[in-house]
Amino acid sequence: MRTTIIHGGPVLDARRGRFRDGLAVVLRDGRVAELLSADALPAGDGDAQLIDVEGRHVLPGLVDAHCHLMSRSGVEADAELVTKSVVDGVLVAGRAIDAGVTTVRDPGCKHRGIYELRREIAAGRVRGPRTFAAGPNVVGSGAPVDWRNVFADGVDEVRRVVRKEVLAGADFVKLVLSHTTGQSRWRTCLRYMTDEEIAVAVSEAHALGVRTGCHCEGLEAARAAVAAGMDVIDHGTWLDEALVERMARQGTVLVPTLWAFSAATHHGYNGTISDAQLADFSERMGDVHRASVQRAITAGVTIAAGTDPIHWVPAQDLLVREAETLAAAGLPTEDVLRAVTINGAIALGRDDELGALEPGMHGDVVVVDGDPTHDLRALARPVLVLKDGEPFVDLLGDRERAARHWEALARPEPLSDRQPEVWLERA
Ligand SMILES: [Zn+2]
Repeated sequence: MRTTIIHGGPVLDARRGRFRDGLAVVLRDGRVAELLSADALPAGDGDAQLIDVEGRHVLPGLVDAHCHLMSRSGVEADAELVTKSVVDGVLVAGRAIDAGVTTVRDPGCKHRGIYELRREIAAGRVRGPRTFAAGPNVVGSGAPVDWRNVFADGVDEVRRVVRKEVLAGADFVKLVLSHTTGQSRWRTCLRYMTDEEIAVAVSEAHALGVRTGCHCEGLEAARAAVAAGMDVIDHGTWLDEALVERMARQGTVLVPTLWAFSAATHHGYNGTISDAQLADFSERMGDVHRASVQRAITAGVTIAAGTDPIHWVPAQDLLVREAETLAAAGLPTEDVLRAVTINGAIALGRDDELGALEPGMHGDVVVVDGDPTHDLRALARPVLVLKDGEPFVDLLGDRERAARHWEALARPEPLSDRQPEVWLERA
């Protein structure tokens, strides 16, 4: 039995979003065994490895609730794009865990290769966060082809496709229901599935024991999704008061990806609109989406932080950027800390085993330099990252290496054929 005891710094109670002093986290065989009173620490090392974090803050591993590990636009049979997306997947996964993200909810990949990556990460052959993947998204024909979709029309076909994807390995089912963009070919608030199709997708997924999420920008589609019992609304750009109140009542989780939308990363990456149009759109989209998120905050909707790094590998501190953006929109600090931990686990339906430091849960721990309650940037300064009790980052006691690591986290790292610096600057 291998025991590690992390002590010497405040520990996050993720359910409340508050740090508690005087606690030590005991990990045994990759799981959280107990939280000890710091007074009750064993005197010597004995069988346990004692890690003194010297006043730094201890959190459960961060959860990115909207992280496409591998995602490329392009047509399905394009071998070059598929190959690139696999390379991206390995890079994004490594960068995520370097940043303290120990779990991701991957809401869509154009091909089922994501399941292979998930398996290699789980087996420890690829460095990366624990991955829950939706695989290809389900959508009615009429949606952009240039997306991560399998197309299905009519309730029978939707039911069949949902079953197929779950059997193929999807951890949850993701639908694409609507877009709102500045790109005229997608027009405003297009809607791709009927109420009946959405309802059958949700009920079939639930019958198969998996949860559901949906790319949703228009109000009408979000309303239909929530009425159908959708578990997660991804993005949720135009939510009105009545809908956010219903989401709060039903426990529907919102993953707003507010930073990504404010940066307009979704919309214009492929050069189909001019820079001026994009800047204008980015600003308007940021305003519209922020207002939507603010309504959700007021209504008490469970909000989980997601980064949506599609088509480009951004700086690794994206989840912290999202945390800061949510805080700037008015999300109280306690809720921001829940958004990057337990609420992501709730989005996955896994808050009994992830997203908090409670007995029996995965031994996922991130120790950061500084106090996130006063400065969320502290979250971008990890000194120790453990997944299932195994160290992935260990910079305790080496200030110089730690500083270099944090600097690398904040540096945008473009992919070969994209220019993410543009979007990072605009944000
Ligand atoms: Zn996405």
